[in-house]
Amino acid sequence: MDTSEARDPASDPAFHARPAEVVLQALGSGHDGLDPNEAARRLATHGRNELPQASGRHPLLRFLAQFHNALIYFLLAAAVAAALLEHVLDAVVIVAVVLVNAIVGFVQEGKAERALNAIRGLIASEAQLLRGGSRTGVPVSEIVPGDIVLLEAGDRVPADLRLVRAHSLRVEEAILTGESVAAEKHVAPVAHDAVLGDRHSMAYSGTFVAAGQAVGVAVGTGMRTEIGRISAMLHEVQTLTTPLLRQINRFGTRFTWLALAMSALLFAFAVAVRGYPWVDALVAVVALAVSAIPEGLPAVITITLAIGVQRMARRNAAIRRLPAVETLGSTSVICSDKTGTLTRNEMTATRLETVAGRVVASGSGYAPEGGLEAQAPGALEAAAPLVRAALLCNDAELVRKDGHWAVQGDPMEGALVALAMKAGLDPAATRRAWRRVDAIPFDARYRYMATLNREGDAACVFVKGAPDELLQLCTLQADGADGAVALDAAAWSARIAEAAAQGERVLGFAVKTVPADTARVDHDDLAQGLVFVGLVGFIDPPRPEAVAAIAECRAAGIAVKMITGDHGDTAAAIGRQLGLGERSRVLTGRDLDAIDDAALPQVVAETDVFARTSPEHKLRIVRALQSTGAVVAMTGDGVNDAPSLKQADVGIGMGLKGTDAAKEASEMVLLDDNFASIVAAVHEGRVVYDNIRKVTSWTLPTNGGEVLAVLAAILFNFAMPMSAVQILWVNLVTSATLGLALAFEPAEPDVMRRRPRPPGQGLLSPFMVWRVALVSLLFTAAALGVFFYGLTHGDDLATARTMVVNTIVVLEIFYLFNVRYLHVSSFSWRGMLGTPAVLGAVAVVVVAQLAFTYLPAMQRLFDTRPLSLLDGLVIVALGAALMVVLEIEKRVTRRMGWGRE
Ligand code: ATP
Repeated sequence: MDTSEARDPASDPAFHARPAEVVLQALGSGHDGLDPNEAARRLATHGRNELPQASGRHPLLRFLAQFHNALIYFLLAAAVAAALLEHVLDAVVIVAVVLVNAIVGFVQEGKAERALNAIRGLIASEAQLLRGGSRTGVPVSEIVPGDIVLLEAGDRVPADLRLVRAHSLRVEEAILTGESVAAEKHVAPVAHDAVLGDRHSMAYSGTFVAAGQAVGVAVGTGMRTEIGRISAMLHEVQTLTTPLLRQINRFGTRFTWLALAMSALLFAFAVAVRGYPWVDALVAVVALAVSAIPEGLPAVITITLAIGVQRMARRNAAIRRLPAVETLGSTSVICSDKTGTLTRNEMTATRLETVAGRVVASGSGYAPEGGLEAQAPGALEAAAPLVRAALLCNDAELVRKDGHWAVQGDPMEGALVALAMKAGLDPAATRRAWRRVDAIPFDARYRYMATLNREGDAACVFVKGAPDELLQLCTLQADGADGAVALDAAAWSARIAEAAAQGERVLGFAVKTVPADTARVDHDDLAQGLVFVGLVGFIDPPRPEAVAAIAECRAAGIAVKMITGDHGDTAAAIGRQLGLGERSRVLTGRDLDAIDDAALPQVVAETDVFARTSPEHKLRIVRALQSTGAVVAMTGDGVNDAPSLKQADVGIGMGLKGTDAAKEASEMVLLDDNFASIVAAVHEGRVVYDNIRKVTSWTLPTNGGEVLAVLAAILFNFAMPMSAVQILWVNLVTSATLGLALAFEPAEPDVMRRRPRPPGQGLLSPFMVWRVALVSLLFTAAALGVFFYGLTHGDDLATARTMVVNTIVVLEIFYLFNVRYLHVSSFSWRGMLGTPAVLGAVAVVVVAQLAFTYLPAMQRLFDTRPLSLLDGLVIVALGAALMVVLEIEKRVTRRMGWGRE
């Protein structure tokens, strides 16, 4: 066996110019694919089918980027000013704080980036291969040269392939050729010197299958692919930014300029009006500047987002783009597919309708156990052509794994294989006897698939699809023997309606005999001579957790719309079981076509269930909903769903049954395809937003209180209540502990009982501004109260300042417990006990404050003095008083209906 060619396609093996059979032979492969042992051996020699990951920024650059921030520039300028004024200690402490802050930011950002990368690994896709003659799902990274790869619409081509079979294959190769129109592909060799875009006999790694089906043999993997050679990176690097973070950074920049202007004014005021020596004035202004800056805030918000991403992943929602974390929190409409998302996608064929009457199939799941029971004489015999069509017009296989049966391929087709086995057919033998010559793959636009099969000198086209669609194609129906009579469409429609009303999914089947030498089948061939042979009804029960999730959405003010390709009656019945669509009728794709764009938004807003829709309808529905101001999350799985997924505010791809193209167009991928996971992600999105608000509304009053205290000192000409380094100490020690603890906050009990947050609402809503202002004033009052209490009771300045610092930190701790519940009272067991993160943070801060107050080294550094027990009690009492006042405020504002945004 000579596989040397596969090792280096660059040595001009020109696979595209050689017949497929020759290539197969050269690679030591065949139509059944490689033997699994041989594949394992090749994996060891050729290596994994991977491109090197695009590496992120260099760690040093990432570290330096921590300093590239208006707030930090300002702090560094303050340090330089302090140094010039020979306040060396201040300068050193400021620089130390900036450094510690940068290290905390660097470490946290690194963690966040790693978390996001790990999530990407969860979405890694599988390829369908033939190995040892059977179809197997294999991780893309384990494909080796010689592997036989099956392609269908929506797949990302997993390696460089020489096509062996292709049907209506079109491949979108923009990533390699820049050409956005999908290229048609076929098996015939092309000229030796054809350029990449003209090599129609090849499908290249990283490109997307836009339509059709194909089988190809892998000729190059990993770096030995075209995309590997141009060393394009398939994964773009996630940037850690979201609209909210940008908003905060903008706010930071503006704030810094404001602080700068204010400082200049104050400096002038202090020197000109108060007659400060300018050195003292500058020291005061530096203190003011550092007190104003919430330097720890951006890092804490980044980590809050990253924690949200991890929590969502734990609930089976993998975020592909970070901004989705925020958008999910404000989602007001969820548009969901039915099959597999709201239902289990565990199909069982239970009913066959034939010309001679009904046949009932017993058994459940995919186990071919059970039998067929005729409800009318002759029905069993009449079912034979139906069952054969069901098995042959079918790409699925059933496999027995650890004692239970599972489907490789489409679940509905798997159910048909089980049905055929219950009817006594041997799938492998039947399929060998009736060799497939050609096929029209399933396409959601046509809603049917067809195969051309040959047995000896007989050849047939078998068609299966949406029964209403097939009834339109057929003019004949089977007569129960071998002949055909005129189609009685009305009778079939009644039987379809009866099954659909029970929530059954119904498929129709038709057959056409063709000349034995027919080699191709096309849509046009189905226009004439097609004989309708019957119906199969499937049950696919709703997911119980979806029922609960829909009820949860209702309580949370989120509308749920089911958009399905299935029959209207089936959709209505399943909708009823799920608690959807009671208040409106089902709209079909055809109904939608009759409604113009102007009237659509209102109609769509009032409808819960859409049936027989195509991907184009989905796009219109999203747009109509968005025009009413809704924030729309929409699911999708097919290749044609990409436009509506991109249009939706949160496009949601299906991890299990979704195509690569749909996943690629999505912001989030569901690892279990389950509707309940979308609702869980929305829940987490709301928690993230709450926590960002908590972190912000907790951080800003610290700065506000400090600024006001310093301002008061300058304006009213009394000694500074805290030195610049003490202010920095407070900011640093609290934000890296207490602030960070808020990032880990669990959900508030009412998180899914509130209406969705209006889109575009800024972080600093009027209610937040009020809260920050109020708390800042209370902080100032307490700090200055303690300061003057100390001074009037005979304390020296240093002791009074130590009291002030401790007061602010204690207030921060009490305020933290208040802020943990923005919407409900904090006076509850749950509220008082806190979380491990909160308690840990409080413990660290208390130890740090004890050190700050009593440790001689710290006393020298920060000019602090030990405090008495009585002082300590006064400070703690102040904290408790603050908590009581703020809880009363919470109750009053809530009663006024304020702050529930
Ligand atoms: P949903 O959109 O909720 O996932 P769906 O699976 O019914 O529901 P489509 O995949 O668009 O939506 O299918 C539309 C219709 O096409 C189905 O109702 C069925 O009648 C038919 N159909 C689906 N899959 C196949 C298939 N593999 N072969 C033939 N017909 C199919």
